[in-house]
Amino acid sequence: MKLYNTLTKRIDEFKTLKPTPVTLYTCGPTVYDFTHIGHARKYINDDLLKRTLNYLGFKVKHVMNITDVGHLTSDEDAGEDKLEKGAKKAGKTVWEVAQFYTDFFLNSLKSTNVIMPELLIRATDHIQEMLQLINILKQKGFTYETVEAVYFDTSKFPGYGKLSGQKLEDKLKGAREDVYIDPNKKNATDFALWFKRVGRFKDHTMHWNSPYGEGFPGWHIECSAMSMKYLGETIDIHTGGIDHIPVHHEDEIAQSEAATGKQFVRFWVHYEFLLIEGQKMSKSLRNFFTLGDLQKKGIDPLALRYLYLQTHYRKQLNFTWESAFAAQETYRKLKKLITSFKNPLSSSRSMLSPEKLNLLDTFRSRFAEAILSDLQLPQAVAIMWEMLKSNIPSPDKLDLLFEFDMIFGLKLSETEADKIPEEILILAKKREEARKKGDFTASDVLRNNIVATGYQIEDLPKGFRIKKSSPPSFRA
Ligand code: AMP
Ligand code: ZN
Repeated sequence: MKLYNTLTKRIDEFKTLKPTPVTLYTCGPTVYDFTHIGHARKYINDDLLKRTLNYLGFKVKHVMNITDVGHLTSDEDAGEDKLEKGAKKAGKTVWEVAQFYTDFFLNSLKSTNVIMPELLIRATDHIQEMLQLINILKQKGFTYETVEAVYFDTSKFPGYGKLSGQKLEDKLKGAREDVYIDPNKKNATDFALWFKRVGRFKDHTMHWNSPYGEGFPGWHIECSAMSMKYLGETIDIHTGGIDHIPVHHEDEIAQSEAATGKQFVRFWVHYEFLLIEGQKMSKSLRNFFTLGDLQKKGIDPLALRYLYLQTHYRKQLNFTWESAFAAQETYRKLKKLITSFKNPLSSSRSMLSPEKLNLLDTFRSRFAEAILSDLQLPQAVAIMWEMLKSNIPSPDKLDLLFEFDMIFGLKLSETEADKIPEEILILAKKREEARKKGDFTASDVLRNNIVATGYQIEDLPKGFRIKKSSPPSFRA
């Protein structure tokens, strides 16, 4: 597979360091506000990358962090801790705020059919690992301490700036004035590894003991410490939004490579933004929509996923309601087409002619070619439609479509007709409880209620199975 690598600034052939698994670290959310559809684009892109690797036969070990401490309102050490600010606004504790928005985030992933990472981990559960890493950096002479914080000295790391391609001198020139909060910070690009509970942070709620006094970690150190703990000192792929390139990821490289002397990440993958009216959709600009806002207008989160599939991950996408409604309509049509293919009249399977077999193979290899060239998913979607319109018999089309959907993740094999309504599931669960208690009268009444709605329930050694009753046939 070929993948654009921000580090080399070219499309490179992707190879893993060890044969298996692919080690993947994806920067997760800062849980102080609602997950919006701009974030969703990032997490769907992560998912498309991971599904593509799975499709190609790679096992993937995927770690994602939840930032619940240390991310300041400016990525460059200025401003307040986002969590503390969110808690003040909501009149809740930081822990409550973090839990509430973590749950909201996880629901957003679930409804867009994002495969959960193998490890989803909170920064606040890894403070000791971060302190250990800071200690190594201190031993190696990369840190200095002021009254306010422990800093990483970027002038001591010769490769600083290699990800963004900026020279250290330019970065220093370009640094904003408001970054100079701590008068004893040596270089504008130096970043805090540990903030002390003094001055502007003297009332910080989340704090831990450390050799530098009570305090809390900086944002960047969490990703390095957690990535190394679970995936090793050098990993295959690390992802994030393009906003992470100049500070967060540059700083992750500096502190990780300074500590280990080894390359931290082999492939850096960055996604472009979702815009709205030409501006980045963001929490701070309050110009965002959540999945719930879309659902209120009848747009399925999976239709949003379909919309995102149509723009390459390295291109900006401007969100409009027209494009969202259009994606919803196309997604509905696609599902309807699949239902028609499942119709008994069109789904009887026969031997494929050599020409049709050949055509099927051509679609499969064109699809593979598209995804192999830096995840050209818009092209893959176009190939899917071409395949669906071809004269390949329906059952074979469906097989290939469901194979493509291993990457698209649009739940195409689940049609409306296959879904068991929630109320039937509730009746079935109540019936199971009645059976367990030996109340067979109640269980029979519940079975009759289920049958009356057009479903059948079958008892299995463990649990039950529900299916739609076949339509009544006419007597001769
Ligand atoms: P945050 O919680 O603000 O740290 O953002 C989490 C992730 O979502 C980061 O990787 C951001 O780059 C990404 N992100 C935030 N806003 C957008 C947007 N409008 N479009 C795409 N990705 C975004
Ligand atoms: Zn990160």
